[in-house]
Amino acid sequence: MENEVVSKNFIEQIIEKDLAEGHCDAVCTRFPPEPNGYLHIGHAKSILLNYGLAQKYNGKFNMRFDDTNPTKEKSEFVESIKADIQWLGADWEDRLFFASDYFGQMYEAAVKLIKKGKAYVCDLTAEQIREYRGTLTEPGKNSPYRDRSVEENLELFENMKNGVYQDGEKVLRAKIDMASPNINMRDPIIYRVAHMHHHRTGDAWCIYPMYDFAHPIEDAIEGVTHSICTLEFEDHRPLYDWVVRELEYEQPPKQIEFAKLYLTNVVTGKRYIKKMVEDGIVDGWDDPRLVSIAALKRRGYTPESIKMFVELCGVSKAQSSVDYAMLEYCIREDLKLKKPRVMAALDPVKLIIDNYPEGQIEYLDVDNNLENEDLGKRKVPFCRELYIDREDFMEEPPKKYFRLFPGNEVRLMGAYFVKCVSYEKDADGKITEIHCTYDPETKCGTGFTGRKVKGTIHWVAAPTALKAEVRLYENIIDEEQGVYNKEDGSLNLNPNSLEIRQCFVEPSLADAKAYDSFQFVRQGYFCVDAKDSRPDALVFNRIVSLKSSFRLPK
Ligand code: ATP
Ligand code: MG
Repeated sequence: MENEVVSKNFIEQIIEKDLAEGHCDAVCTRFPPEPNGYLHIGHAKSILLNYGLAQKYNGKFNMRFDDTNPTKEKSEFVESIKADIQWLGADWEDRLFFASDYFGQMYEAAVKLIKKGKAYVCDLTAEQIREYRGTLTEPGKNSPYRDRSVEENLELFENMKNGVYQDGEKVLRAKIDMASPNINMRDPIIYRVAHMHHHRTGDAWCIYPMYDFAHPIEDAIEGVTHSICTLEFEDHRPLYDWVVRELEYEQPPKQIEFAKLYLTNVVTGKRYIKKMVEDGIVDGWDDPRLVSIAALKRRGYTPESIKMFVELCGVSKAQSSVDYAMLEYCIREDLKLKKPRVMAALDPVKLIIDNYPEGQIEYLDVDNNLENEDLGKRKVPFCRELYIDREDFMEEPPKKYFRLFPGNEVRLMGAYFVKCVSYEKDADGKITEIHCTYDPETKCGTGFTGRKVKGTIHWVAAPTALKAEVRLYENIIDEEQGVYNKEDGSLNLNPNSLEIRQCFVEPSLADAKAYDSFQFVRQGYFCVDAKDSRPDALVFNRIVSLKSSFRLPK
């Protein structure tokens, strides 16, 4: 007996019902970004959800730029969005669409509504329209232009298209119900005059459709069956359904809403990110402290880790906020067995082995990943002068400090036991050199069992070490204060969100390329920065540290 427990999210339940009842034969979903900024982790959720559903039900996934609003759109964003979606692994095959390609059909759709007596040209000003609209508690009033004849409306709408009017002089409105309890249904504007240049259609149009009118048409034209969007559109669904119904599409698409993904104490809003970019607080939309997809990629996140994260978050109707630590958990899980574990001294201090022959270098065989033998071994040079991390030595250790201190013996990872015999300081009291002796009997891998040590520390051989810059990150937001300043709405920034260190890494990293990532033992996972790293001047971003208090919810 199969005893499979499958929990389906509510969208899957709707789709399966629609398939079973014959409302559609095959599933078609879409991702419809507005090309007015870079995509972020929230969009990744929507992309992977839509693509995942198409895959699961053997359907299609369309990519469509919702470029009906010419003011804010830029081709730069079109390219970044395409690259990000491809990187995430969502494949639209040959179905890359632009809503602006449907302007002709949208115009015809508006004409159809006029002919059915379901749309009219209105001369009220924006302010009057607002006044006539009523409030949540009071119904609206009919526009004095509501009862224009079909002929007059057709002529005026054509004039709108032909550039006879100034911006704002006339609009086309759906004729629905000014007394509807849903304000979206009170004769919403469906076309406006806007003498604006469009990034794809140029100056061909001086009227542009409104989102609520355009979106269902785009979906219907493409044969989208399930138009998945976020909760703020729930109140717009009656209008979506009205448009689809009045235009008499044979395969009416269905709108389904789910809750947006929010990360606690993390900024996703385009407006704020744009400001941080413009103010030079971050070094672009892909600054590794951000959660745009480009930033996550640059930081060293993988598509697999983002997919795991999105799946853990689940799909729901209830607004909630997820901890960033969960994203960190996912990248650790993803990299754990895949990446080599190498040594780096992030805050280097010299360690000299007094009894090791000067000028000698021996090559030790070190496992690349103790948990995954398939990654093999590498040769790591060892010699008399090494770098270790400053925090692995203390002059006066507290209790339970098992690392290096005068008189104490530790294991150098993959190498020998060393015992601290002396150290030197500069005038400021800063440790400049640590002197040790080593015991040749204790070489790693020889089965030495003579005695035990409690601490193991990492190291890098000084003469062959590579200089590298590492960038250590904290949240760009000051978590104590929360994201937004209560007084002026600005962001509460953490002044310590970026720490740059000059460090030494082992020579096996000499050929590391952009986006390559590694575990630096005991320090975390690091990724070669794609923007600033050079073969002779490596730059690494810390993706995530190794430790976490995060536990998967049961
Ligand atoms: P933002 O204002 O955060 O940049 P947006 O909603 O303006 O987002 P669009 O380009 O309009 O961005 O969105 C494209 C798609 O991504 C829409 O279907 C939208 O519902 C979805 N989306 C946007 N933000 C999120 C989020 N935080 N979680 C899940 N889906 C999202
Ligand atoms: Mg938007």
